Amino acid sequence: MNIKELISRMTLEEKACLCSGLGFWHTKPVERLKIPSIMMTDEPHGLRKQEREGDFEKSVPATCFPTAVTLASSWDRKLMEKVGSAIGEECQAEGVSILLGPGVNIKRSPLCGRNFEYYSEDPFLSSEIALHFIKGVQSQGVGACIKHFCANNQEHRRLTIDVKADERTLREIYLASFERAVKEGKPWAVMCAYNKVNGEYCSENKHLLNDILKEEWGFEGLVVSDWGAVNERVKGLLAGLGLQMPYDGGFGDKKIIEAVKRGELPEDVLDRAVERILRIVFRAVENRRENASYDKFAHHNLAREAARECFVLLKNEDNILPLRKEGTIALIGAFAKKPRYQGGGSSRVNPTMLDNAYDEILKMVEGKAKVLYADGYRLDSDEIDEKLIEEAKETAKNSDVAVIFAGLPERYESEGYDRPNMKMPENHNRLIEEVSEVQCNLVVVLSNGAPVEMPWINKVKGVLETYLGGQAWGGAVADVLFGVVSPSGKLAETFPKKLSDNPSHLNFPGEDDIVEYREGIFVGYRYYDKKEMDVLFPFGHGLSYTTFEYSNLVLDKKEMTDQDVLRVSVKVKNTGKTPGKEIVQLYVRDVKSSVIRPEKELKGFEKVEVKPWEEKEVVFILDRRAFAYYNVDIKDWHVESGEFEILIGRSSRDIVLKDTVYVKSTVQIRKKFHRNSTIGDIMEDPIASKVFGSMLHQFIQHTPFAAAPEGSILKMLSEMMKYMPLRFLVSFTNGAVTEEMLENLIQRINQEIN
Ligand code: BGC
Repeated sequence: MNIKELISRMTLEEKACLCSGLGFWHTKPVERLKIPSIMMTDEPHGLRKQEREGDFEKSVPATCFPTAVTLASSWDRKLMEKVGSAIGEECQAEGVSILLGPGVNIKRSPLCGRNFEYYSEDPFLSSEIALHFIKGVQSQGVGACIKHFCANNQEHRRLTIDVKADERTLREIYLASFERAVKEGKPWAVMCAYNKVNGEYCSENKHLLNDILKEEWGFEGLVVSDWGAVNERVKGLLAGLGLQMPYDGGFGDKKIIEAVKRGELPEDVLDRAVERILRIVFRAVENRRENASYDKFAHHNLAREAARECFVLLKNEDNILPLRKEGTIALIGAFAKKPRYQGGGSSRVNPTMLDNAYDEILKMVEGKAKVLYADGYRLDSDEIDEKLIEEAKETAKNSDVAVIFAGLPERYESEGYDRPNMKMPENHNRLIEEVSEVQCNLVVVLSNGAPVEMPWINKVKGVLETYLGGQAWGGAVADVLFGVVSPSGKLAETFPKKLSDNPSHLNFPGEDDIVEYREGIFVGYRYYDKKEMDVLFPFGHGLSYTTFEYSNLVLDKKEMTDQDVLRVSVKVKNTGKTPGKEIVQLYVRDVKSSVIRPEKELKGFEKVEVKPWEEKEVVFILDRRAFAYYNVDIKDWHVESGEFEILIGRSSRDIVLKDTVYVKSTVQIRKKFHRNSTIGDIMEDPIASKVFGSMLHQFIQHTPFAAAPEGSILKMLSEMMKYMPLRFLVSFTNGAVTEEMLENLIQRINQEIN
């Protein structure tokens, strides 16, 4: 298909018309030129294809996989590909060409109502997980649409909020979450966010769309607006937005036509947007598989396998888990029978089937244990029901062990609004407290889309975080509780002790239409680490039924340049009795830096399956980016020469091995000095200080330092006068050092260093 030739045959009206959708979910066809229409629809953990256009209540049945927060806790690239691929198959079966996911916005605050749809507080983990999900979806000839680009980190006033964030923060945290996934995953589409970033709506933000996404990252696909995110249509097109969704009655198309006619919009800008749209439309058509279908039972099993890879065992005192199939087991809490398995809003899937934990546990124990049940709380209310609590206590008292199913009811978190706090409902918390008084063998199974406070944590022996586990959650819970598999998920976010510990707390959700990201790059563990703050559960934490020993950390070099790659290997041995999977985490710490940097940053992870007494080697390859920070002056990633620690950990707070590598920068950043440069800055630069030193004699003779012994003068100057600007030398010497001499010095320094 010669797309450029096709465009040359299109009228202005046809081209403008193609830049907005047909209804809610399709692109427009142009029959005269045999341009077909394609369908796109939500979303990252399963397909939500409306049965009838505009009917938001009903969608066709599809497998509801664990939600993004859950999947990310697997830290499992292969699993992400499998799930992505299965969702891609379902798209093919339903005639959907583009899946509107994954969502990779960073979890700046635990309160964001859509945190369950996003992966992590860490951009490296988030982008890796997204990359493999995209690979999976696109392996089926279906496009992925990564979203919401960018800095859409809250629901509060999401359509108008202006995110104020400095460039380094955007690059290192919020954009980085997209970067690798876009560059390597090559999603067919990118969805721009609703919000503004630094004063410009994302839908008309040239810096984000044209400059960074297309120019710097080389994105060749389609930029589509979030649904209703277009503000000024023509400005958007000029900034790099292609497709406006959904259809707005032709209002935007008309504006495009008028702007071209008035000469305000060059037609070739429109042509380039149309070209990107057409490339995707024809790619979708080429990849369409007629009569495609999928095996819903196989996908349900995959959803179960996925869920159990993701659950995070937060606490396991006295090895209370796994449970044995014996004695009497109390299951308490309405979630056991009515699972909380996905979140609200545009990601809601109509599941093909739905497991619950109660039935699955009954199947699991095969009659070998007695299973009792009590509701414990009402699902539709937060009010404490004393009768239900008493029943639950009775049930727990008459059992050998009790499992409470608790967390956040559906109304607590959804697209469209944020949570007001991190608390679980009072009736869930009270239930746990009261049952703990009569039963010390107590396990809590949590269902929630984001961190919660756990005031009862010291009163229970076990906590299994299952997040929102998808339609096969019930079976997966049974598998993990009874040790069919050992839990192997780890937290992709920190659980702070309380909301006010979170770094965004003072500036969330902002004032009126402005939210300032004043914590800068210190998001999640980057902040808690720097503050040396105790947390409830750290980033990367997760227990197993077995134990792992780490040894033999080997770096293939001790010195390198920023153009080299570093190979890091480490051995992991399963020293317990059951098979298990360990997520080995690699963090990098810049030992000494001239810029403010986090204590450490995640730069590698591998999930490995290890049998009892087996030992496996895990290998990481680190390139320049693993050591770099974003330097706003040179507008590039930069590695400062110096020592870097390579830290290997079970979690961000459990570092077990470390070694050091010296990295030499091949990029010299030279400052331009001026009359307000401080003497300290001059002294820190080897060349500038040399020039300064050589002219020092002239200057010193007019200062109180004239009598000081030769060699000590430089040192004294650098210590005592380091915050003095150069111009100070003039008044400090009563004008004996003249403006002219100063000018001369500055000129010589700048000549020498460049
Ligand atoms: C959401 C997107 C979603 C779109 C279409 C918007 O409100 O922000 O994530 O893909 O609707 O349903």
